[in-house]
Amino acid sequence: MTDLQIAKSVKPKPISEIANKLGIDPEQLEMYGKNKAKIPLSLIDRQKVKQSHLILVSATSPTPAGEGKTTISIGLSEALNKLNKKTTVVLREPSLGPVFGIKGGATGGGYAQVLPLEDINLHFTGDFSAIEKANNLLAAVIDNNIQNTTNSLGLDPRTITWKRVFDVNDRALRNIIIGLGGTANGIPRETGFDITAASEIMAILCLSNDLKDLKKRLGQIFIGYTFSKKPIYAKDLKVSGAMASLLQHAIKPNLVQTLEGNPAIIHGGPFANIAQGTNSVIATLMGMTHSEYTVTEAGFGCDLGAEKFFDIKCQSANLAPKAVVLTTTIRALKYHGGASLKTLEIPDVHALSQGLPNLEKHIENIEAFGVIPIIAINKFTSDSIEEIEIIKEFAKTKNVRIAVADVWAKGGEGAIELAKHVIDVTESEKSDFKPLYNWDSLVEDKIKKIAQEIYGASNVEYSSNAKRQLQRIKKLGLENLAICIAKTEKSLSDDPKLLGRPKDFTITVREIEIASGAGFIIPITGNIMRMPGLPAHPASEGIDISEDGEIFGLF
Ligand code: ADP
Ligand code: MG
Repeated sequence: MTDLQIAKSVKPKPISEIANKLGIDPEQLEMYGKNKAKIPLSLIDRQKVKQSHLILVSATSPTPAGEGKTTISIGLSEALNKLNKKTTVVLREPSLGPVFGIKGGATGGGYAQVLPLEDINLHFTGDFSAIEKANNLLAAVIDNNIQNTTNSLGLDPRTITWKRVFDVNDRALRNIIIGLGGTANGIPRETGFDITAASEIMAILCLSNDLKDLKKRLGQIFIGYTFSKKPIYAKDLKVSGAMASLLQHAIKPNLVQTLEGNPAIIHGGPFANIAQGTNSVIATLMGMTHSEYTVTEAGFGCDLGAEKFFDIKCQSANLAPKAVVLTTTIRALKYHGGASLKTLEIPDVHALSQGLPNLEKHIENIEAFGVIPIIAINKFTSDSIEEIEIIKEFAKTKNVRIAVADVWAKGGEGAIELAKHVIDVTESEKSDFKPLYNWDSLVEDKIKKIAQEIYGASNVEYSSNAKRQLQRIKKLGLENLAICIAKTEKSLSDDPKLLGRPKDFTITVREIEIASGAGFIIPITGNIMRMPGLPAHPASEGIDISEDGEIFGLF
């Protein structure tokens, strides 16, 4: 059965029943149909958050298809609920880019899914659209200010980095010229579109603690310089209030349910290669307020998602995870051990053994933050017993807990052993989370620390452009922001071809972007795309809707 067929085979419970499970009065919900609702921010309680356990699901370096973090997060949360621990899974909202492109949706797979699949993957409650509008309102106000002579800030159009956004992979919009057509139609300038998940507004929404914080951060967005070199921020354009108003509903987390009828909160969706890669702080706080355990996911491998989760989100929101579930797959480790993508289903103990150093590095990285890792082997039907044994033996030598998780085939039942490890680690072993760096350190020191200690690089080099941007950041007084490195997810290094556990490599910072509203700066390494393209045969070719409104072909 396809994921969609499995999802359709289950009749979702009314969302009021799910709210009741969380001790939320359904009267408080803002309903979006029968199975989706927004939860008001007033229901966050910091005292209750303190007593709740946060579990992060991360992964080893992925193959292009993804290694099943979302699937494992959902399955683990079902299993914890089976073991009578009141648990909520808190996830990101899918972007339409991957939905119509190659990677697919973000609602899990097999018997570990969240419902309603069609809605969550297609627009959901409109949060991405609101983010797009807020982003593009700022863009329109910027161009209007350049055009206007009576209310001009004197912005130098050549220094403006703010782009418009759109939530579909559309490479033709990457580089465009706007303002053509004569004096009444704007000042011509070169700009472009990013995908909505890459927007700073998305990053801001996901790091804000509340509406007040959201407004403050929106005002702090850096726009560019005037002709007399004065920096201009969104607040100078008096637009942050209108932007925040557009986000009035988008800031509230969305309540849905898992296949087994447990609570799921899905909110925000920044990518992990260019942004912080995890759901909103507000969603996490909401989950923690209303449950004993909150299971959440950070995108791609630990080098990207987990590092940013710890250093950016946890430091910003004052959170401390109790354990990390390190998802790995036999196919990914074989891939990192030299097997080609086409042969990953064939048992190959040699390639698997060669791929173990990748797992080893990710274990070390989690431990570097003082958090206890638990390996989850996300079981695929092609896995052989010998291969599973090799990973188990390896975990033993590293003194790390491990469990096979068969949630794809069995739902929560498939993660009971994993859930027991999670409970054990949380309730008896006590992780002692500490971030890798202090935000107040020097920018170069922070970047070096991540590159050397997490990626395993020997040193960091800066292009002359990046060096200039470093100086600019110092001049602007933005040195004490967090660091959000843009890097390929395919390798621990910045070169997607270096698989396994690369050593003796240099990280090259090509450019440095400022996201002063989000509260981080973005050193860009390698060729990171902010607006992906579609493949020759996009997934949209297979998606359809019947005359009576039933959707087909979505995964
Ligand atoms: P990630 O969150 O790491 O990107 P997902 O959980 O979204 O990964 O899974 C990626 C894809 O792989 C999804 O289409 C999912 O259905 C599929 N998948 C995940 N786990 C399994 C499994 N054990 N067997 C088969 N397919 C799986
Ligand atoms: Mg995922």
